Amino acid sequence: MRAVTWQGNEKMSVETVPDPSLRAPTDAIIRVTSTAICGSDLHLYSVLGTFMERGDIVGHEAMGIVEEVGSGVRKLKRGDRVVIPFVVACGECWMCRRGLQSQCETTQVHAHDTGATLFGYSKLYGQLAGGQAQYLRVPLADAGAIVVPDDGRPDERYLFMSDVLPTAWQAVDYAGVEAGSTVVVLGLGPIGQMSARIAKYRGARTVLAIDLVPERLALAERHGIETLNRADVADLADVVRDRIDGRGPDAVIDAVGMEAHGNPIVGAVHKVTSWLPDAVAEPMLLKAGVDRLRALHDAIGIVRRGGTISISGVYGGMADPMPMLQIFDKQLTIRAGQANVHRWISDIHPVVADPGDPLGVLDLASHRLSLDDAPMAYEKFQKKQDGFIKVVLDPWQ
Ligand code: NAD
Ligand code: ZN
Ligand code: ZN
Repeated sequence: MRAVTWQGNEKMSVETVPDPSLRAPTDAIIRVTSTAICGSDLHLYSVLGTFMERGDIVGHEAMGIVEEVGSGVRKLKRGDRVVIPFVVACGECWMCRRGLQSQCETTQVHAHDTGATLFGYSKLYGQLAGGQAQYLRVPLADAGAIVVPDDGRPDERYLFMSDVLPTAWQAVDYAGVEAGSTVVVLGLGPIGQMSARIAKYRGARTVLAIDLVPERLALAERHGIETLNRADVADLADVVRDRIDGRGPDAVIDAVGMEAHGNPIVGAVHKVTSWLPDAVAEPMLLKAGVDRLRALHDAIGIVRRGGTISISGVYGGMADPMPMLQIFDKQLTIRAGQANVHRWISDIHPVVADPGDPLGVLDLASHRLSLDDAPMAYEKFQKKQDGFIKVVLDPWQ
C-alpha cells in the first residue's frame, strides 16, 4: 500500500510499504478513505524527531471502511463505516472507566511512565503505524472504532471526531465554560478554531480568539468569533482586560503548543536544538530569544484572577521557566492533557450529525489533496502558508 513515512527531520515521503495484517484477535483492518494532518504531526515532523525512526508511518486522524476483523471482534463488521480515535483505549480498565482513556492502563507502553498508545507516534507512544496510509490496523477495534452512518454524507462530516472535535470539546470542558462564561482562545489552528466554536455553542457570552495568521483570523470571524492579531498588540493583558469586563476572561484555552509556528528563525533554532537533551537545549533556546512557552505565558498573564487555563497545545521539555508566583498569586486552576477521545463522542456525535451543522465541521478543511501531496502539505501547513489550515488527504485519489 501507499503510506506517508517519516524519513528525517522535516522530511516526509510517500512510499510503498507492506499492507498491515491482523496481529491479535481483537484487531481490525480499515481501508482508509480520509486522513488528516494535525498540528501534533508537526511536532514529530521537526521538534520531536528524536523519537522517530526512518520509515515510520505517520498520522492519527483517519476514517474508512472495515475491511477485515479478527476472530475476537464482536460488534464491528466488515463494511462498517468508522472513525478511528487517535487514542487506543480498552474501555474497561480503571482509567477508562473514569473517562481518562488517554491514560488507559491496558495500552500504555511503560506502566506509569506514559499515557495510552496512539496511532502514528512511533516509539513515543506505542510504536503503532499511523493512519496516513491506504490501510490501517486498529487494535482493540470494538472499544475503539466509532461506527457512523453510511449515509452518503462526505467524510468530513464525521472525520474530525478522530481528534480535533474531542480535543476541542475537552479543552472547553476543562476550561469550565458554561452559559455566560468569558473565554479567550490562543491559537487558531484546527484545535483553536473548534474550541472557539464549541465554547460559543456551549453558551459562552464572549469568545475572543488570538492568532497571528490573517487567514486563520478570517476563518474564525466567519463563524462569528471576535479576534485579535497577536502581532498588533504589545501589552496583551491590558488589551484583553479592556475588552473583557475590565478584569480578563474566566478561562483561557491554549491551543498553540510548543513551537512559535511559522517563524523561520525560531524554526531553525528548534531544528538545531531538538537533538539535544532538554537541559542543554533550553538555555540555548532562551539565549536565542526563543520563548517556546510564549502562548502559555500569555495565558497566565491574561486570565482573570481565580480563573482557569486549559492547555490542549502540546508542550515538551522539563527546564522551561514558569511564572510560579503569578500562578500562585492569581490563584489559577490549570488543566491539561491528551484528549480522552471516547469520553466525548456521545456529546459530539449528535452535534455533527445535525443537518444544520452547528459547529461548521464542513468549513474547517482548507485543502483536500491526494496522499502524494502530503510532503508539500506538511511544509505549507508548518509554515502557515497559502491558507493551509487543515489538510484532508484521500489515499485513493
Ligand atoms: P496549528 O499548528 O495549526 O495551530 C497552532 C496555531 O497557533 C497556529 O494558527 C499559529 O499561528 C498559532 N500561534 C503560534 N504562536 C502563537 C501565539 N503566541 N499566540 C497565538 N497564536 C499563536 O495546530 P493545531 O492542529 O490546531 O494544534 C494545536 C496544538 O494542539 C498543537 O500543539 C497540537 O499538538 C495540539 N493538539 C493536542 C491534542 C490533545 O489531545 N491535547 C490533540 C490535537 C492537537
Ligand atoms: Zn491530531
Ligand atoms: Zn483502558
